[in-house]
Amino acid sequence: MEQYTTLSSVQQDIKAGKLHLGQLVDGFLQRIEETKHLNAFVEVYGEEAKAQAESINAKILNGTGGKLAGMVVGIKDLICYEGHTVSAGSRIIENYKSIFSSTVVERLLAEDAIIIGRQNCDEFAMGGSNENSYFGAVKNAADNTKVPGGSSGGSAVAVQAGLCMASLGTDTGGSVRQPAAFCGVVGLKPTYGRVSRHGIIAYASSFDQVGPIANSVEDAALLLEVIAGHDDFDSTSSQEVVPEYSKQLSFEGKKRIAYLPETLESEGLDPEVKALTEKVIRQLKAEGHTVEPISFPYLDYVVPTYYILTMAEASSNLARYDGVHYGYRSPNAVDLESTYKKSRSEGFGAEVKRRIMLGTFVLSAGHYDAFYGKAQKVRRLIAEKTHAILEDHDFILLPTTPGPAFGIGEKTDDPVTMYLADIFTVQASLAGIPAISLPVGETQTKLPLGVQLIGKRFGEVELFAFSKYFLDVTKKE
Ligand code: GLN
Repeated sequence: MEQYTTLSSVQQDIKAGKLHLGQLVDGFLQRIEETKHLNAFVEVYGEEAKAQAESINAKILNGTGGKLAGMVVGIKDLICYEGHTVSAGSRIIENYKSIFSSTVVERLLAEDAIIIGRQNCDEFAMGGSNENSYFGAVKNAADNTKVPGGSSGGSAVAVQAGLCMASLGTDTGGSVRQPAAFCGVVGLKPTYGRVSRHGIIAYASSFDQVGPIANSVEDAALLLEVIAGHDDFDSTSSQEVVPEYSKQLSFEGKKRIAYLPETLESEGLDPEVKALTEKVIRQLKAEGHTVEPISFPYLDYVVPTYYILTMAEASSNLARYDGVHYGYRSPNAVDLESTYKKSRSEGFGAEVKRRIMLGTFVLSAGHYDAFYGKAQKVRRLIAEKTHAILEDHDFILLPTTPGPAFGIGEKTDDPVTMYLADIFTVQASLAGIPAISLPVGETQTKLPLGVQLIGKRFGEVELFAFSKYFLDVTKKE
């Protein structure tokens, strides 16, 4: 089976009679079977996908197919789909069946996408390696001893390994972009408020956004176009009109791009990542763009600020899993107090418990001002500085990650090292602005590497168009 990297090529081949959508779905289902060891999917909706393929194939042929007709997607196990189990990678809601669909799922289905299954992720999206899943670690398809990144690890591997055409992940502090970089695919975190969070299991509500992971900028743009837009069920979703991203992908002209010297001098930056970023800067300059260093003095503060705020929000969001309202209840509980304590102790994994405790601590009366209040103020400073850079520049360019995919088990004993690895992704999250990871290289040992572009608030049109061009330019050498 040919590996399709864009939906338009699938639609073309179906119209030309060279392909039936059922064949494509069967091909994915077979690949999923053959690559079970990667652990990318928690559950596969094989029969449903095959049935949908029949009717959507007919629609493509008679010209009534939606924008995503022929697109076979997977969804992170955090995105509610009516009648389907959604577990958030956790024992605490292992068997929870969703009674409604998230807005993003409704919008996918309305445009004739086929949802092939739900994908493994870190428990409640907390992690950067997909090792915190109740369903076990996910393996990077480029090297099975390496992590795929996280928390949307299953979603990135599924695209990398050809198990579906695209995925929907969620990105709170890098969970779409970082696994995209580790797996050699495209991943976008939209502007905060661009996509409805209705029906997305919450981690940190002032950060969470759904984002596409795909083989091409075209498909990522098309997916965002479909899922974005105001939703009455999410008051933080923006009223801003949704442009047709997929039709505005041509790029011309010269751009002003900032890079942050602190990122390239940062401790722990892998030499191959540094070399790649510098090479990309040279290539863009050679194309006539202005690419200049702009100091960002807050780099050391982005990780602590991000973790204080997200843990605080998580401790509040996860209070609902109490052994009463949802999911797992400990069989050893004897009264109300032990129902809470035992259900939560047995139902949550170690990382989630660590974050709930730290989040509760930073919000507690005696520590609120010193931690939570302070972090709110620092978030404002980081956001304002970032916006100021983007007033004079079209984009900020920086590595997506400090290094390539690391070994499974390598960082699990040291949560702080794991947190520090988020240093380049959390800036855009704190500022609420869009950022994309683009696969532009690999290490000598053939591990994928990504470079990240941060755009202006609601600047996804420019970001996509430039990204497409950027991938062409960086392929030249
Ligand atoms: N690695 C980050 C964290 O653990 C990002 C997670 C995410 O974006 N969901 O918080």
